Amino acid sequence: MAKSAKAITIATLGSHCALQVLKGAKDEGFKTLLVCEKRRVGLYKRFGFIDSMIVVDRFNEVLEENCRKKLASSNAVLIPHGTLISQMTSDQIEKIDTPVFGNKWILRWEADREMKERLMSEAGLRIPLAVKSKNEINGLCIVKLHGAAGGRGYYLAWDRQSFEEGARRLVEQKAIRGEEDLYIQEFVRGVPVYLQYFYSPITDTLELMGIDRRYESDVDGIGRIPAKQQLGAGVEPSYNVVGNLPLVLRESLLEEVYKIGEDFVAAAKRLVKPGMPGPFCLEGVYDREGRFTTFEFSARIVAGTNLYIDGSPYSGLLYDEPMSMGRRIAREVKIAKRKGRLDEVVT
Ligand code: AMP
Repeated sequence: MAKSAKAITIATLGSHCALQVLKGAKDEGFKTLLVCEKRRVGLYKRFGFIDSMIVVDRFNEVLEENCRKKLASSNAVLIPHGTLISQMTSDQIEKIDTPVFGNKWILRWEADREMKERLMSEAGLRIPLAVKSKNEINGLCIVKLHGAAGGRGYYLAWDRQSFEEGARRLVEQKAIRGEEDLYIQEFVRGVPVYLQYFYSPITDTLELMGIDRRYESDVDGIGRIPAKQQLGAGVEPSYNVVGNLPLVLRESLLEEVYKIGEDFVAAAKRLVKPGMPGPFCLEGVYDREGRFTTFEFSARIVAGTNLYIDGSPYSGLLYDEPMSMGRRIAREVKIAKRKGRLDEVVT
């Protein structure tokens, strides 16, 4: 187990932000291990900071004896990310017996829309109205699938008919079983912004590590089609994330950014012990009055942090060295281990 005196290995699944996480771990002096699907071995072999691999057919093999033994014998701490959430159920994640960095119990609150809303409300965040049924749609709404699908399948609806049409399309594509798999939310007009935080339970401080926005296909490409052609072609935007773009906020907005982050950490401590140690992200929209409405959170590292392997305009204010989120995680493991407080940063 990672709690022994033996050197810790930082491990993660080969996808999402694995390169950043393992590069950061190596920079902090850890051994690194990648749980890698066969088809991706060629990609990850290119990077010298990956010390070893456990090759699997599917990621949920981390629950199987063979993989668990290898992780245990390397004294691994597993860094969870979006791929873990999207490819494993909450029940499976909770069964992982390798120490997971952060709070693995809060990942259920990320995956379940109702629990997610409850935690955001407990934090006192401004959130979009949840529309309980297609009959209550009154104004522009965004229709979402459950779980971390990276915006895939999301569509806009403004009445019952447009909701049903969208649902039918998704059923035909086999993306959902039926309308019951959909979640309807008020569409907040403004610009989307993703706030990347790190909370250290060791020092009880919240750090703003970076900010990004997503580059989504094809909603971010639609502006390149003139209105006349858009109307003719019956364009339907989708919100499939392709990458991320860096962003800095007006400095006057930062005070609230810290406040909502701290409110979220406090709410997490109340609702889901041990709270929100490590990286998380509040995801929302700034409207024309500069008000932030949070539509989602991620209770673990987000892929938008991949922008800042050499540090961000915000981490640069806190650290005199390049500090990616991946490296910050490894630094926390190192400090916690040294202080004999590893229990507070893994579950
Ligand atoms: P998500 O995967 O939930 O982070 O959302 C994907 C994208 O959908 C975001 O980047 C936004 O462009 C958009 N989005 C999600 N929820 C809302 C909302 N309530 N209002 C407006 N846009 C939204």
